[in-house]
Amino acid sequence: MSGKPESIEKTDAEWRATLTPEQYRVLREKGTERPFTGALTENHETGNYHCAGCGALLFLSGAKFDSGCGWPSFMIPADSTAVQEHEDRSFGMRRVEVTCARCGGHLGHVFPDGPGPTGLRYCINSASLAFTKERK
Ligand SMILES: [Zn+2]
Repeated sequence: MSGKPESIEKTDAEWRATLTPEQYRVLREKGTERPFTGALTENHETGNYHCAGCGALLFLSGAKFDSGCGWPSFMIPADSTAVQEHEDRSFGMRRVEVTCARCGGHLGHVFPDGPGPTGLRYCINSASLAFTKERK
């Protein structure tokens, strides 16, 4: 895969019609689910993590690790063009927000304290993700 993914734009009403209230709050209003409450934090199955908003492939299970932070954590996106990163100065902190490159949905933040060769920890809300288990 190469190049920039085709972007998806929907109205607020269209997003509300397709997302659950929790998905809408996180993806479209940049909310954060409470730590250790997300359905995928402790998921150790092999498979793919897609955007809950548009279905774009975002992360692979091989890049997931147990960070202990309470949210699904990944060392690297499935593809460098799958996500976009933006400086976020909200709440008096300097963080890097991660969004879906295709639909602009808020996913979480990336921190420079990861264990792997990338040194990165993509801390992603479960509500932003849709997991598909690999078929054996
Ligand atoms: Zn998306």
